[in-house]
Amino acid sequence: MRIDILTVVPELLESPLNYSIVKRAREKGLVEIYIHNIRDYGKGSYKQVDDYPFGGDAGMVIMIEPVYNLISKLKSERDYDEIIYMSPDGEILDQKMSNMLSCRQNLILLCGHYKGVDHRIREHLITKEISVGDYVLSGGELPAAILCDSIIRLVPGAISDETSALSDSFQDNLLAPPVYTRPSDFKGWKVPDVLLSGNPKLITEWQESQSLERTKRLRPNLSKEDN
Ligand code: SAH
Repeated sequence: MRIDILTVVPELLESPLNYSIVKRAREKGLVEIYIHNIRDYGKGSYKQVDDYPFGGDAGMVIMIEPVYNLISKLKSERDYDEIIYMSPDGEILDQKMSNMLSCRQNLILLCGHYKGVDHRIREHLITKEISVGDYVLSGGELPAAILCDSIIRLVPGAISDETSALSDSFQDNLLAPPVYTRPSDFKGWKVPDVLLSGNPKLITEWQESQSLERTKRLRPNLSKEDN
């Protein structure tokens, strides 16, 4: 899988995509991530990428030309399954969408900044818009990092224990059961007996009942969804 991220602040993406599971997946060659600075395609000697909005609003808007040139170049080199704009008014990211996108070959993620991007980019170049929630951030970089992380950990081989991603919350519309590790007794705070019983059947039953109970209590809407 290949992900191309388009940004005016590449520095914001460095650390989240260079550690932990994402780093290992890149090293194993499971995913290639390329970060492109839109400014390299900026206009004139100042490499201008933003301008004042028509209509005289406050804030700056990312211009269509540099973004168009960068996307055209990438599209001339390979086919892309989706060209995604990270946007607070996009479709809200959930596990189902991450599962689906983890099966794609080539993705472009466009990060906005300032007031956003010239709307013609969204009308003519973008195929999908994704939000990470109903709140506004300063740029699309952290949302793009969230999207990448959630997709990449699902690519087979990214997590050493492959079943681990499948037992996470939201797979099967269920929250994960609680987990514990040593010591089994910390200052009198004990791990549930059943987990120490060594009886796999009892343990699975307990985990399933915990998943159900936690889902009903914490995310009642999930149990009503069917996908
Ligand atoms: N003026 C815009 C917000 C711009 S925020 C509006 O009111 O809708 C600047 C950039 O941050 C956006 O272009 C987008 O790429 C990104 N962004 C902000 N909040 C986001 C969210 N919840 N999900 C995804 N991207 C977001």
